[in-house]
Amino acid sequence: MKPVQSELKKWMQENKNFKENYIRIKQEVLNDPEIKEFLSYHPTLPEKEVEKNLIKLYEYKSQSKQCDKCKSFEQCQNMLQGYSPVLHVKDNEIHLSYEKCHLRLDHEKQQQQQQLIESLYMPKEILNAAIDDIDHDTERGSGIRQLLLFLEQTKSGLPSKGIYFYGPFGVGKTYLLGALANALKEYNISSMLIYMPEFVREIKSSIKDDSINEKINYFKKADVLMLDDIGAETQSAWFRDEILGSILQYRMMEKLPVFFTSNYSLEHLEEQLGRSNRGGVETVKAGRIIERIKQVSKEIPLSGENRRDV
Ligand code: ADP
Ligand code: MG
Repeated sequence: MKPVQSELKKWMQENKNFKENYIRIKQEVLNDPEIKEFLSYHPTLPEKEVEKNLIKLYEYKSQSKQCDKCKSFEQCQNMLQGYSPVLHVKDNEIHLSYEKCHLRLDHEKQQQQQQLIESLYMPKEILNAAIDDIDHDTERGSGIRQLLLFLEQTKSGLPSKGIYFYGPFGVGKTYLLGALANALKEYNISSMLIYMPEFVREIKSSIKDDSINEKINYFKKADVLMLDDIGAETQSAWFRDEILGSILQYRMMEKLPVFFTSNYSLEHLEEQLGRSNRGGVETVKAGRIIERIKQVSKEIPLSGENRRDV
């Protein structure tokens, strides 16, 4: 007899707890300001329907609505990360559904935009550079103005000329390119940033590879191509004429802008590119590359303090 009694007692206790819990949850739910508001919009909802859906209403109440309880997408508190609950009534029945929250939409947009920047061998800090973080000192002022002008013009169509930034080491030339690439994402324009010395190495090592033409096509066709540190690469007549020359030729014909950074002015770059020294021919070929650079970009000097020492 005893076990049955104790079981019964236990059941009654649990049942009591259940009832108490139920009443408490019901009060909590019905006193919730948002639930009250929802019910006030639907005065014809039968009380039974409300009772039947107490759990749904409780779920709605406990979730963050359009990120009101979440600091970021990563810290989302909801059962479904990045989804916000919505209550609605159809044919006098309560329905609970979930829709993407603001933070999820922002997160998805950022991820999509991140794919708009492709880079080869660029440091992370450069890929995170932002136009708004650029210090507007007088020395770099005109360079930054040109960059802003390019962005302004982009609103009505991609300009056919980029910028050739040249100046001493550490003045922030590469940083400007990173900031520009990030700003262009906002206009859904893709950028390809390449560090020239590694680019030459990469192309040379894939000569035998069938993918070389595919790679080169990629550089030819990117919305905005950015060649970082031109002149610092190991000089090779083959790379200069067959690779760089053909990429620039294509972009010149298609009116697609190219940005460059260099320690050399165009005049000095011409000497540098003509250096493999097989006589006059090299000078002519170097001159041809310089002409193409001038067609796809505008030469702008940058000076200022060496920011690597700051
Ligand atoms: P360069 O390409 O002219 O040699 P970098 O762009 O690499 O110079 O800049 C040198 C250092 O200064 C980098 O560490 C870069 O992140 C930093 N830097 C450059 N410009 C800025 C800026 N406007 N604001 C903050 N940091 C900068
Ligand atoms: Mg640099």
